[in-house]
Amino acid sequence: MEATIEVSGLRKRFGRTVALDGMTFSVRPGLVTGFVGPNGAGKSTTMRVILGLDAADEGAALIGGKPYRGLRHPLSHVGSLLDAAALHPGRSARGHLLWLAHSQGMAARRVDEVLDLVGLTSAARRKAGGYSLGMRQRLGIAAALLGDPATVMLDEPFNGMDPEGIVWIRGFLRSLAAQGRAVLVSSHLMSELQDTADHLIAAGRGKVIADTSVAGLIGAASGNRVAVRTAAPQ
Ligand code: ADP
Ligand code: MG
Repeated sequence: MEATIEVSGLRKRFGRTVALDGMTFSVRPGLVTGFVGPNGAGKSTTMRVILGLDAADEGAALIGGKPYRGLRHPLSHVGSLLDAAALHPGRSARGHLLWLAHSQGMAARRVDEVLDLVGLTSAARRKAGGYSLGMRQRLGIAAALLGDPATVMLDEPFNGMDPEGIVWIRGFLRSLAAQGRAVLVSSHLMSELQDTADHLIAAGRGKVIADTSVAGLIGAASGNRVAVRTAAPQ
């Protein structure tokens, strides 16, 4: 499978802080790739560099072999809740998406499709200012899917989600991958990704410390348990 996102040797400093220290990985279509690491590991900065929102000091980030080309590029990003806060509180979710679709030259009929996809149809005409954090996340995901992107990046989409929302988003990410899309999803919690992702990229201090299939990881962990049991005194 051809990689849809390729990040190679990214380095980025903010003053004296080294945010990225040679970040290198690729993301393939048809898989959910989890991007896990503690706060400050460089996950958001990597995504911002992929999107061209931050410039790297060194290295390259390519999407389908090319640098990001803006809104028309077949990559969509669901930002942090701070981005969702930019939503006009007096506007309905549907109104917000119609405005986005219009400003990006996309078909208005896609708005009702994506509202349905994220389970917001019945609330779509309510003022988005009254939405829960989980509903805002769903709205952010709906916005990201407006352009029917081949690649979707989600930065900490589990934040602010209630337990029902977490179950929903897991299934939803799986369905996006089953449609052949490449999905890159970040979290600071392994527990949020281990049942969702096919592949895991673990980051720490601006670089990749593990790049493995989830099956391989579970296999290694159970292998270790067997080894420990075997080694234990009888
Ligand atoms: P993560 O998303 O994994 O929590 P970030 O990419 O947000 O990590 O941050 C990586 C490092 O870069 C952190 O030390 C953070 O404080 C720093 N950093 C990120 N953005 C900025 C910025 N705009 N200005 C200064 N430091 C930043
Ligand atoms: Mg982050």
